[in-house]
Formats: sequence, structure tokens, C-alpha cells
Amino acid sequence: MIPNTPDWPIKIDLYSDTLTRPSEAMRHAMASAEVGDEQKGEDPSTNVLLNLVRELLGKEEAVLLPSGTMCNEIAFAVHCRPGDEILLDSTAHPLHYEAGAPAALAGAMVRAIDGDHGIFTAEQVDAAVHPASRYAPQSVLLSVEQTSNLGGGRCWPLEDIRSVTTAARRHGMRTHMDGARLFNAVVATGVAAQDYSAPFDSVFIDLTKGLGAPIGAVLAGDRDFIDKVWRLKQRWGGAMRQSGIIAAAGTYALTHNMHRLADDHANALLLAEMIATHPRILLDPTSVQTNIVIFDILNTTTTAEDLTRQLLQDSGIRVGAFGPTTIRAVTHLDVGTDKIPLVAEAICSALDSKNLATQGE
Ligand SMILES: *Cc1c(COP(=O)(O)O)cnc(C)c1O
Repeated sequence: MIPNTPDWPIKIDLYSDTLTRPSEAMRHAMASAEVGDEQKGEDPSTNVLLNLVRELLGKEEAVLLPSGTMCNEIAFAVHCRPGDEILLDSTAHPLHYEAGAPAALAGAMVRAIDGDHGIFTAEQVDAAVHPASRYAPQSVLLSVEQTSNLGGGRCWPLEDIRSVTTAARRHGMRTHMDGARLFNAVVATGVAAQDYSAPFDSVFIDLTKGLGAPIGAVLAGDRDFIDKVWRLKQRWGGAMRQSGIIAAAGTYALTHNMHRLADDHANALLLAEMIATHPRILLDPTSVQTNIVIFDILNTTTTAEDLTRQLLQDSGIRVGAFGPTTIRAVTHLDVGTDKIPLVAEAICSALDSKNLATQGE
């Protein structure tokens, strides 16, 4: 099963910011990277990347892993014993896109909190935590997603992060940040990554989203936590050898592609403003804070699948169907501002086209 294999050639791809390809300069950095054995801590380019991330996040230790999913799942397995419970938002990535790994790998229960665009409150944490009891699972870990992917790229305000993590600690829980797009929040709000990370026992950043590296994510925390992470990295086959080839791409990404995330945010806002006036689109452009635009199709039997297929067929534009009537478009460094009006016009004219309109009337 290959998901979302397109039947038509793609000219503009806003399906995800994971679609970025390494630039010539990034490939050059990869090709010329100094390398050694990562498992032994002897890969110099990996060590450069880890030092950079430790500094950015203000954490004692960090480790390179193949993916953000592995960061979440190793963190969960370190923080939880089988039967323990993780609290996270009902839209959170591990609930929808990690193939059941919290159950399969950590043996953990997950309890979903119904936040607002991925963001919940300390009162909701208090209400979700089980009182100590012989019968209830133990709530041991709180996980926060910055930015919230299915929440439409919404940034957790620092105040809210502090209040939910304070609540978690009051209940004796540990805390984890899924920072797949942490730097989108940093660039959008001006709050330092260190400040967002400080309240958490563990944090990961993805190098392969808007930052544009081809492989890799970094998980950070204190020394004791990272020692435990290393055991699972080894056990689950995530320990590498000459990983400097990919670490160099990550260092390049953090050095060159972080501040330009602001361009992706401006492009997402532009797209949102251009399509929000269409009578069949439900979208508040002021809700777009970073590089993700999520909208609903209104007043029609046209489904999100119909619209995405029509867009691809007519214009070679790919966006994602994320619900019966919900569409997601994600801006990234391989799609320039000049393409945005083309995308907006294509979406509006697809919704106006006879093809889709007659299905809706
Ligand atoms: C993409 C993503 C992940 C997983 O990262 P991969 O590197 O694709 O495994 C985890 N959490 C969020 C919020 C994501 O968007």
C-alpha cells in the first residue's frame, strides 16, 4: 500500500513540508562532511549537530535519530512502563500517524484531551489525570505538540506551555515536547527555543520538515534521560555509523533555513487570505500563524478527496485531504511566493468548475 500516489504529474506540491529536497549547497555540505562511528560517539559532524541543538534547546544531552516518530516513541518508552498513561491532544501525531506505536512499543495507554486547535488548558490536564487508585492507569507523561500540526500550525503560547507543564508536575508527571515544527513557532513568535523547551524533560526537533534536511531528528534531555534513550536506540536498530552525512545536512538546515521559515509563514497567510473569501471555503485567515493552512469545504457534496483529485488533474497542484471536507496545504522552501496566487486561483476555480459544482448542487 503506497499512500497518496498521484495519478497526474505534480507541478506544485503543498502536501507537506517534508517534501523539500536538499539543495546543492546542502548536498555539498553532506558530501564533504567529516565522518566517524556514531555509535561510539566518534562522528565529528554528528557531534557538531548535537552541540548546536543542545545549545538551541538548552538541554544537557542530545541524540540523533532517523525520524521524529522514533524520537516520540523512544521518549514514550523511556518515560512510561507498560500500562502507564500518556496525556496528549486528540489531534496529536502519535495518536494518528505513528502506527499504534505508543501501544506497540511502550505498552502505554494514551488519553486524548480535546483542545482548541491542538492547545489544551491546565484545567483539562487536571480533569484528565486519574486520581491515585488501584484501578486506574497511572498518568505519567504529558506531551505537547509545538506547533500543532492538525491544529493548523497553531503555536502554543509560552504561558499556556508553562501552565500545563506546571499542572503535570503537580501530579508528579513527566513532560515531553513534540517539537517537529518548534522552529516555526520560534520564528513566528520570537520566543527562544530554549524558553519553549525549558519546562520539558524531553524535546525533539525534526530536521526534515520546514528546515529542509532529507533525514533525521534530534531528541534532547538530561544526561540520565539520554543514557536511557541510547539503550533503546541501540535495541531498536536506530544506532548509526557514518551519520555525519545526514548530520551535516541538519547543521546546514539549522544554520541556513531557520530564519527563512518566515517566508513560508507569509506564503501560508497569503494563500489563506486569497481563498478565504470564496463562498465555499470555511477559513479564518487570522488563525494561520505558521506554514499550515487547514480549511473546510462548505455547502456542497464535494468531498476533500474530490477537490484534491480535481486540483491535481487540472493544475498539477497537490494538497492533502485530511477529513471528509477538510483540506491541508503546507508551505515550504521549495514553493516560492510566485506560486501562491496560482494555487489560490486553482482551488477557487476547481470549486467553481462544473465538474465539482454539479456534484454539489
Ligand atoms: C512529522 C511529525 C512527526 C514525525 O516526524 P517524522 O520525522 O516524519 O517521523 C511527529 N510529530 C509531528 C507533529 C509531526 O508533524
